[in-house]
Amino acid sequence: MYRTLTGKEAAEAVLINVKRRAVALDRKPALAIVLIGKDPASEVYVTNKMRKAEYSGIKTNLHKLPENVKEEEVIALVNKLNNDEHIDGYIVQSPLPKHIDEKKILEAISPEKDVDGWTTVNLGKMFVGTDTYLPATPAGIIRILEYYNIKIEGKHAVVVGRSNVVGKPAAMLLLRKNATVTICHSKTENLAEYTKKADILVVAAGKAEMITGDMVKKGAVVIDVGINKNEKGIVGDVKFDEVIKKADCSPVPGGVGLMTVAMLLDNVVKAAEKNVGTS
Ligand code: NAD
Repeated sequence: MYRTLTGKEAAEAVLINVKRRAVALDRKPALAIVLIGKDPASEVYVTNKMRKAEYSGIKTNLHKLPENVKEEEVIALVNKLNNDEHIDGYIVQSPLPKHIDEKKILEAISPEKDVDGWTTVNLGKMFVGTDTYLPATPAGIIRILEYYNIKIEGKHAVVVGRSNVVGKPAAMLLLRKNATVTICHSKTENLAEYTKKADILVVAAGKAEMITGDMVKKGAVVIDVGINKNEKGIVGDVKFDEVIKKADCSPVPGGVGLMTVAMLLDNVVKAAEKNVGTS
């Protein structure tokens, strides 16, 4: 009775649009990816991004750096990419090794090439509502809600998680769509009191299956951003089997993750459109 909000068709719709725009350009859009170390999950994400990019008519360029690379070397590569006119946008895959200061790397990334939308300039533009590269996962959350014609305006959206890359920007984008927004986090007391009041519940806490059926209002919409590994394999932050009995819910895998890649590539083609003419 309740819908499984898969990301497959919604992401495919974004990718078809990306491909159409990519082939209309004088040259292929180009995405560079900086991958540091050998984190298995990051390697899977990067392979996936590259595959979907090629499928969408976007050229990719992978820069692999060893785990023990010096911070200055990463910054030197970032500066090189900032000045490389053949690269429309690039990402530095997170998480970074502990000895590298993520803030320093983010400060070095040119906002014009920041297709992850993580630099303070682009987050600031998102905050005031200026056109910019929106962070891919939060933008994907909005896109999946829109794909399923879920009304956001006037609804009570509760976001669990306040990271700079997911929770906070997701809350801001929901606010921009005129939701009334509550942000919960690790210090929130009585979390269920808030989640039960949500018309739209977005969960990005990184805690396997922490949202159980009794924490969700009947008829709500639940977007599960979490990606966790437990004895069952890859699971989200939501106990899907319980929640789907009373609410529309996105699955993990096959939900927001697919949207994230698609929205990243949407940013890449947007960057290329600024850099090259159309034929
Ligand atoms: P993070 O660790 O930076 O932030 C987690 C947030 O959750 C924090 O703000 C924390 O306050 C909050 N939190 C933690 N435990 C909580 C609890 N018990 N109750 C309430 N709040 C709690 O993580 P992140 O980078 O924001 O990612 C969150 C999750 O989303 C992770 O599982 C990550 O793997 C996943 N993720 C998925 C995608 C995707 O494309 N699907 C993209 C990015 C991140």
